[in-house]
Parts: sequence; C-alpha cells; structure tokens
Amino acid sequence: MVSLQLEGRTVVVTGAGQGQGAAEARLLAESGARVIATDLSAVIPAGLGAGSSASAGALVYRQLDVSDEAGWSGLASWIRSQGWQVDGLVNNAGITQRSRLLDASVADLKKVYEVNVAGSVLGIQALSPLMRSGSSIVNVGSVAGLTAHYPVAYTASKWALRGLSQVAAMELGPRGIRVNTVHPGFIETPMTAGAKPEFRQSTLAETPLGRTGSVEEVAGVVLFLLSPLSSFVTGAEMPVDGGQASHGGAKSISDALH
Ligand code: NAP
Repeated sequence: MVSLQLEGRTVVVTGAGQGQGAAEARLLAESGARVIATDLSAVIPAGLGAGSSASAGALVYRQLDVSDEAGWSGLASWIRSQGWQVDGLVNNAGITQRSRLLDASVADLKKVYEVNVAGSVLGIQALSPLMRSGSSIVNVGSVAGLTAHYPVAYTASKWALRGLSQVAAMELGPRGIRVNTVHPGFIETPMTAGAKPEFRQSTLAETPLGRTGSVEEVAGVVLFLLSPLSSFVTGAEMPVDGGQASHGGAKSISDALH
C-alpha cells in the first residue's frame, strides 16, 4: 500500500466551510493529517463536520477571514501555543465577482483581490515561518487564471495568484518549502450552484471530458501536492478541469469538423 505520509503533519485549509475546501479538509484528515480547517463562520460549519468521524487524523476548526492580517497572526500564535509546526497550507478561500469589463468598478477589483490574492500572501507570510523543510503550500487558482474569462475582477485576481505562486516557489524553495497551484475548471460547489444554464452548457461544450468536476476530484490533487509523493514538484500548475484549458479554443473547430 502506498503511504501518503501525512500522519503527524499539520495542514491549514482556508475557506474550508463548504465546497472544495471542506472536501480537502475531510480528505486530508482521512489521510492522517491534523487539519486546521478555517472559514468565516464563528462556529464549525455543518458541511465540515460530516464525515470527520471517519478521519484517521484530526480536524479542528478555527474562524479566519483570510483578508484579515490580525486574524492570520492570531492563528499563527494559536498554532505555536499548541506546540505545533505547519507542514501544509491550502490557500483555497476565494470569492467570485461577475461584473464584465466595462462595468467593473475599482471596488469590485479590490474586493476580489483582497480575498483571492492578498489572502494568500498573508497566509504565506504568517505560516511559512512555522514551516520546516518538506512543507508544501497549494494555492487554488482557476481556469480563469489560464485563459481569458468573462468576469474581469476574478480573472485578473487568479492571474495575479499565479504570479504570487511563482515568487513564493522561488523564494521558499531554498528552505525546502514547495509551492504549487491547482486550477479547477467547473466544479460543482455552492459557488457554481447559481451558474446560469448558458454558462454551464457553454463550459461543458469546451470541456473534453464533457462533464463538470466534483470537489473530491480537486481534493485528490491537492492531497498529492501536499504529500511527499510530489517532493520534487514546485512552481507547478495543475489544471483540474476535464481538459477545458488544454485546447486553446480548438475544441469547437474539432467538434465542427466531425
Ligand atoms: P465556495 O463554495 O464559495 O466556498 C468558498 C468558501 O470560502 C466559503 O465557505 C466561503 O465562506 C469562504 N470564504 C469566502 N471569503 C472568505 C474569506 N475572506 N476568508 C475565509 N473564507 C472565505 O467556493 P468553491 O467553489 O469551493 O471554491 C474554492 C476555491 O476554488 C476558490 O478559490 C475558487 O475561486 C476556486 N475555484 C472554484 C471553481 C468552481 O467551479 N467551483 C472553479 C475554479 C476555481 P462563505 O460561504 O461564508 O462566504
């Protein structure tokens, strides 16, 4: 049996109250990690508790707004007070904002940037000092960070996150800390539950696998990137998108020529 070697490792997951973050927290705990699941809610979100009883590791919940610098220092102090180090960080928390190019305000751009980009910067600043060699950081991007995409503030934030990831991989690599990015495509979560039918249909038409993804399919890749199985992988970007970003628009041509 292959061991993921997460036993005894402490991993922080942001935005873990629902959707992909909750699935990541559950899978990591099931794989033996001590998971510190964080989200905006003051009490442990219902979706996070479900399934944790089957965990091999442990799952504790802490309130954290990723855009709040003091919140990150508080979390780091609490982790230190427990006598723990940090072996993994999943910068998963993210918000979307659907205004189009000619309508987006500076306030729209700032709001998304504060969570999707600054939230990840603050997380790395607060927790990397608690990391030793062999630790791993996973940033959650999006196919919107690989191509053009219709919501401009969200798209720009996910491209910015790629830049952050590469800087972090370069600067933290000498300390033995790896930094990688996953880029989910259309994943069924509360974030996408309200997507217009037109968005769903057009996305499926652009997706070679012809379906949407599940939160477990993203969590599995995050688990791999946190585990020592990926010990020589850093600065990498992995789409988890059914092939959506891979064809550069050629799928509609291929489909038309059938
Ligand atoms: P989701 O269902 O909306 O869950 C996101 C979680 O993050 C929620 O629990 C949310 O809390 C929390 N959150 C929001 N703002 C926060 C903040 N300032 N601090 C801490 N937590 C905060 O989203 P998801 O679909 O699982 O997405 C997870 C990540 O994947 C995001 O980075 C997203 O951009 C990315 N992604 C998703 C998709 C997709 O198709 N679902 C595709 C590409 C990329 P509240 O509910 O209380 O606001």
